[in-house]
Amino acid sequence: MYRDPYLTLLLFLLIYLLILVMIKSFNIFRKKTSKRFHLLCPGCKQNVIKRIKRKSHDMYLNIMTLQLFKFKRYKCTICTWEGLRW
Ligand SMILES: [Zn+2]
Repeated sequence: MYRDPYLTLLLFLLIYLLILVMIKSFNIFRKKTSKRFHLLCPGCKQNVIKRIKRKSHDMYLNIMTLQLFKFKRYKCTICTWEGLRW
């Protein structure tokens, strides 16, 4: 029964969807806001982050996460932090 490839694939998809739902419900990789700044830098936690141009592989992440999050690329203007947040 455990060697059934369709069942394995189905289980894998279910676990994958569960992880996506968990990221969404626990606000993992969600951008942080503060009273002073609209978007707070996760690196230095005292500066604002700015939208920058997407890299070509960022598109794949949005496709892989079924467009649930709409990840955008941000960069801090003081420290070197750069990354994706939704
Ligand atoms: Zn920073």
